[in-house]
Amino acid sequence: MTISSLTKIFEPIQINSMELKNRLVVPAMGTNFANPDGTVSEHLRDYLVARADGGFGLIITEITAISPYGKGTPNQLSIWDDKFIPGFKDLAKATHARGAKIAVQLYHPGRQTFSFLTGRPLVAPSAIPCPVCREIPKELTVEEIWGLEEQFAEGARRAKEAGIDAIEIHGAHGYLVAQFMSGYANRRSDAYGGDLEGLLRFPTDIIHKIREKVGPDYPIIFRLSGDERVAGGRTIQETKTIIPLLEQAGANAFHMSTGVYASFNYIIAPMAISPGYNVNAAAEVKKATSVPVIAVGRVNDPRMAEEILKEDQADLVSMGRASLADPELPKKAAEGNYEDIRWCIGCNQGCIDRPLHSRKAGISCLVNPSVGKERETAFTPASQSKKVLVVGGGPGGMEAARVAALRGHEVCLYEKEEKLGGQFNFAAVPPCKQEITKIINYLSTQVRKAGVKIILGKEATEETIDDLQPDAIVIATGGTPVIPDIPGIKEEGVVTAFDILGGKVIPGRSILVIGGGMVGCETADFLGQIMGCRVTLVEALPRVAQDVGAATRYFLLQRLAQEKASIITSALVKRFVKDGAILERNGKEETLSGFDTVVLAMGVAPVNELAEKVRGKTKEMYVIGDAKQPRKALDAIAEAAEIGRKV
Ligand code: SF4
Repeated sequence: MTISSLTKIFEPIQINSMELKNRLVVPAMGTNFANPDGTVSEHLRDYLVARADGGFGLIITEITAISPYGKGTPNQLSIWDDKFIPGFKDLAKATHARGAKIAVQLYHPGRQTFSFLTGRPLVAPSAIPCPVCREIPKELTVEEIWGLEEQFAEGARRAKEAGIDAIEIHGAHGYLVAQFMSGYANRRSDAYGGDLEGLLRFPTDIIHKIREKVGPDYPIIFRLSGDERVAGGRTIQETKTIIPLLEQAGANAFHMSTGVYASFNYIIAPMAISPGYNVNAAAEVKKATSVPVIAVGRVNDPRMAEEILKEDQADLVSMGRASLADPELPKKAAEGNYEDIRWCIGCNQGCIDRPLHSRKAGISCLVNPSVGKERETAFTPASQSKKVLVVGGGPGGMEAARVAALRGHEVCLYEKEEKLGGQFNFAAVPPCKQEITKIINYLSTQVRKAGVKIILGKEATEETIDDLQPDAIVIATGGTPVIPDIPGIKEEGVVTAFDILGGKVIPGRSILVIGGGMVGCETADFLGQIMGCRVTLVEALPRVAQDVGAATRYFLLQRLAQEKASIITSALVKRFVKDGAILERNGKEETLSGFDTVVLAMGVAPVNELAEKVRGKTKEMYVIGDAKQPRKALDAIAEAAEIGRKV
């Protein structure tokens, strides 16, 4: 075991009376794991405790409602009544048993929610709708404001009674507290708006009222957006002005995030935005306060966290999505064991791009299918060791092989290409997608370490199965580009997106890409940005990139616009011609010509012929991932892990 060279992140620190064993924080992240009545579920407790087990010093619960009408998710974790105290008590006890501390994030969404969740009209400092949620809120009266301040204070009192170590006031991301603090949402001219004192009256009243209930030593963390990143929103310069006033009121630490719903793409920034993109907010605020400051924003690597602390840009570092991807990141970092860290790649597929307001959807993670399933996915050794053949070394095949081998099976993995990774090797090529290589590396290393026998550059055939006589076969042979039966497609030298991304075809200067889903748009981005091509993109649907998550899509379309890609939607290809295609749009035919290369990105079809050929040759056979049905990598990897546990 190597000993880590990281020291700063493992130094203890104090926030008011709370002593933390290290500087690594799991920030609040909406999970939707609470019980439908808002109490702490076993599910939620397991998920949070796994992060405490993994070595994080401070865990902060997700948004926790201080009012029964302050809901932002269906399964809204809540603390608006004493009936919630027992659940938090158990959670605190379980977290403390692992050496970590736990804080509850006190939250009210104000105008940034929906009345179908709150059961009442939304409320806000002013009757101005959030441009995302688009409901006109009711302007709060002063009496109602006092009532809400009291509810925040009562939430803190309950947290303390439950043995929770600290509370965090959610004053970031444009929620109710932030709405009062910013002219962007607050147009009041009474004591709760207008000048600096007015804008700060609601948060400072809340701090004072909490302090009265919890005493002088109890830690109050205040979370806020350094820069709201919207016209009329608070800037970092203005934030620095309000920090001393919040500190004076009694805040014991500042947790520096960014954005509001209208700039959501920056709150949980995707792979397109550099790691550590928001550290500056903490660094600036540190100049304005004497209490600890927490940095947050795609800090995925403990070595980056170490540098942030060494350079005195912050006192603690939140590693939210990194903790989803690998709850044991602190332990592994302490051992200097970087090759076993499952890196968050900023894909947002499992943690953000899900129907947040659906009761069923809880968070997940592309690289860690165990998120929220900690109990069900705990490793159980196989009752009997089997000979398992995995065909296909893409992410699904590797994950199935890894899990099966760790459970004690003898696993052999065949990959027909010379390297592992499958379609991820193509997915990592476009701009801002390079972090996908981290998961290829992780899985390749882990299958080797788990003792999987890897055969590269050889296709598994019926003979292979006859020779190996496996007890179980996992077919993870992936997919192949769809080549639809469109006139001219064979004769006119059309190539596929995989040909381009795999480096098999050098494109010309002027390119026509057919298919505006994720692969088509990202291939167009690669051609425009990296290869310097002029790109025209054609999509049958009215919008492109509809299969891409919101934040990733936002930055992808921004890049395509910068590259001056021409995008044609609601258009069907009728025929391919020598240098282009004939389209049908709005009932009319039009010819696009003058292209050097025509690239197809019209989806992927399953490759699974082997399954039919060998059916019946083994007791167990599983067809997984794209080989079964093309789908998102998130689902393919989760399914592969499940098969690894089942085999
Ligand atoms: Fe990171 Fe993607 Fe996992 Fe979210 S789903 S935590 S972005 S790897």
